[in-house]
Amino acid sequence: MAFLRTVITGNPTKTNFSQIFFKIMAKIYITRKIPDAGIDKLKEKGYEVDVSPEDKVLSKEELIGALKQKEYDAVLCLLTDKIDGEVFDAAPKAKIFANYAVGFNNIDVNAAKEKGIMISNTPGVLTETVAEYTFTLLLSIAHRISEADKFTKAGNYKGWAPELLLGTDLSKKTLGIVGLGRIGSQVANHAVKGFGMRVLYYDIKRNEEFEEDTGAEFRESVDDVLKEADFVSVHVPLLESTKHLINKERLAMMKPSAFIVNTSRGPVVDEQAIVEALKNKTIRGAALDVFESEPELAEGLTEFDNVIITPHIASGTLETRSKMSEIAAENIIAALEGKTPPNLVS
Ligand code: NAD
Repeated sequence: MAFLRTVITGNPTKTNFSQIFFKIMAKIYITRKIPDAGIDKLKEKGYEVDVSPEDKVLSKEELIGALKQKEYDAVLCLLTDKIDGEVFDAAPKAKIFANYAVGFNNIDVNAAKEKGIMISNTPGVLTETVAEYTFTLLLSIAHRISEADKFTKAGNYKGWAPELLLGTDLSKKTLGIVGLGRIGSQVANHAVKGFGMRVLYYDIKRNEEFEEDTGAEFRESVDDVLKEADFVSVHVPLLESTKHLINKERLAMMKPSAFIVNTSRGPVVDEQAIVEALKNKTIRGAALDVFESEPELAEGLTEFDNVIITPHIASGTLETRSKMSEIAAENIIAALEGKTPPNLVS
């Protein structure tokens, strides 16, 4: 009891001791090192926090082995962890698996439901960063930044020339948004308000308020967006219905002068079809932050100058990754305190 009194601030006699004891003893497993902000929050609560000592994606066997080491009450997992029924069974006491991502396609949500395990994500905090990054890719591919950097560093710059590495403007062009959710609508906002672009969008849900606010135009199908846009930016979640939403046939509908950017999830776009479209010059360029079988890349993808590929870092700023860490921790704390996690997805 003396030990408890040293930990508890406030009047211990008025406190529910079993709750406090649980808080103190609750064990959390984190599948990979993440920024400290969230880990600190969990430790401040008195929880025992174990972080995988290896800075790598754990295989399913390794993850199951790690979870069986102790009776964990909660797990903080990453989008690179494949979480299914067998993984849940390795942590039978766990109340929640808190995903450190907005997408949660890495988790078998139905299996979680069956086993009464809560799943949470980290939406909202990364919207600005991913929208900003998407714009970075749009500007970079249009202005050939990656090519120009390589060219100059290779010592090829021999002096200003009127037709050296000519790019294309975003201003006054048409941007097609596929999936006008949090990130898609912020990209659309930047396009309209920052670059005077015309925005077309397709989403399963029409947003008339957004249309009134920005002048964005709704189209009845993805096809209608792809046919008209000079730049296409993809922002749908990965679902059965969105796998290969952008396929060979749809890429063929794009203007040969158009560019495509994907910062959503790799399998939403048929990556091999992108390679073919670039080979056949049916599109002008692509910028991809996500890939179908990460970290593998489709064969041939690295061979083009008019492709920018980045390693799934659209949300990767210190500020945002720290906020994600805090939010994942807050979801765990809520679940362990018997409250509804603020970002419960199921
Ligand atoms: P969101 O849920 O706010 O928006 C998704 C939108 O897609 C919604 O408006 C939804 O109605 C729409 N949609 C769903 N199915 C559709 C379909 N078949 N056709 C057209 N529209 C459809 O999600 P968000 O926060 O904007 O994030 C979007 C996606 O971005 C996430 O699911 C995640 O996969 C991805 N993401 C990637 C990174 C990265 O690091 N590259 C970071 C954050 C998010």
